[in-house]
Amino acid sequence: MSFPDLLASLGSRFEGLRGKLTANQPLSAVTWLRAGGPAQLLFQPADEEDLAQFLSVLPEEIPVLTIGLGSNLLVRDGGIEGVVIRLGARGFGAVEVLDGGRIRAGAAVPDKRLAEAAADAGIGGFAFYTGIPGGIGGALRMNAGAHGTETCNRLVEVTAIDRKGARHVLTNADMGYSYRHSSAAPGLVFTSAVFEGPLEDEAKIRTEMAEVVAHRERAQPIREKTGGSTFKNPPGNSAWKVIDAAGCRGLTVGGAQMSEMHCNFMINTGTATGHDLELLGETVRRRVREHSGVELEWEIKRLGQFLPGEEISPFLD
Ligand SMILES: Cc1cc2nc3c(=O)[nH]c(=O)nc-3n(C[C@H](O)[C@H](O)[C@H](O)COP(=O)(O)OP(=O)(O)OC[C@H]3O[C@@H](n4cnc5c(N)ncnc54)[C@H](O)[C@@H]3O)c2cc1C
Repeated sequence: MSFPDLLASLGSRFEGLRGKLTANQPLSAVTWLRAGGPAQLLFQPADEEDLAQFLSVLPEEIPVLTIGLGSNLLVRDGGIEGVVIRLGARGFGAVEVLDGGRIRAGAAVPDKRLAEAAADAGIGGFAFYTGIPGGIGGALRMNAGAHGTETCNRLVEVTAIDRKGARHVLTNADMGYSYRHSSAAPGLVFTSAVFEGPLEDEAKIRTEMAEVVAHRERAQPIREKTGGSTFKNPPGNSAWKVIDAAGCRGLTVGGAQMSEMHCNFMINTGTATGHDLELLGETVRRRVREHSGVELEWEIKRLGQFLPGEEISPFLD
């Protein structure tokens, strides 16, 4: 499966850009679930200015999607039409400790690294990031959280570039946060953010971080090809409980399986396609609705298009 080469048709517009452009780049290599088709054009900007320039010259009708470290993504087998932007550590990987318990991090900084830097600086409240394998860009979009703390509890402001290449600074309130969701305009590319936490004793912070790691090791299949929690917790309930009750622990479709260890984690046992993974998810939703009447909502972001003839109708949507 490959798309028409956008570089061949648009290449002259991109002269002077310092980032990397790759046509038909397979995305299975950069997602945790290791499945799915290519990006029609992948752009890895050199820095924020390069990103803004790229977006300002890209024709408006070309769709743009930003991905982070791919730990919450299910890419469909037909791939993603248009441009996929991926921010790399070189231009977006800086961490800077500011005054007053504040810390700035680029969008490509892994959550764990922010937790480490905060601990080094004696800034508390970031231990939850130790167990989340994504990057700051994804955390900002997903309102990533664990152990009772969410991104919105620590966020001060976000810098973002819009679809036309203009730079914006958004406050925490502008991000419109709710559980695993931000209502900030979908086209924004987050490039960095400022966070804040209470000044605390480093040893206490390190103990909390170690507890988070130990919990993950015990309870989650963190060494598998997975996307983390497949579904959001329904109000007042846990997704894993209703999945388990519906008999879906260990359920498989092709190479996709609901983990035996944590049945809200979907895993690629080795050969899963995007189709296997999504069909498994929809099957789980159907069985849970039939068993307990609960309507599960996907937490994993499904992106891109189906291969012809492999369309999956969402069971509940
Ligand atoms: C083993 C495991 C455990 C996990 N545990 C947790 C957990 O405890 N809590 C939790 O909340 N999540 C958890 N996750 C899910 C995932 O790690 C988080 O959602 C994470 O925040 C996603 O970040 P990412 O960089 O991987 O983003 P991606 O998965 O690449 O993208 C996620 C979303 O963010 C958007 N996005 C990414 N970067 C940007 C950017 N720079 N600008 C604009 N939009 C952007 C994408 O378009 C997409 O919609 C887990 C995942 C795994 C595999």
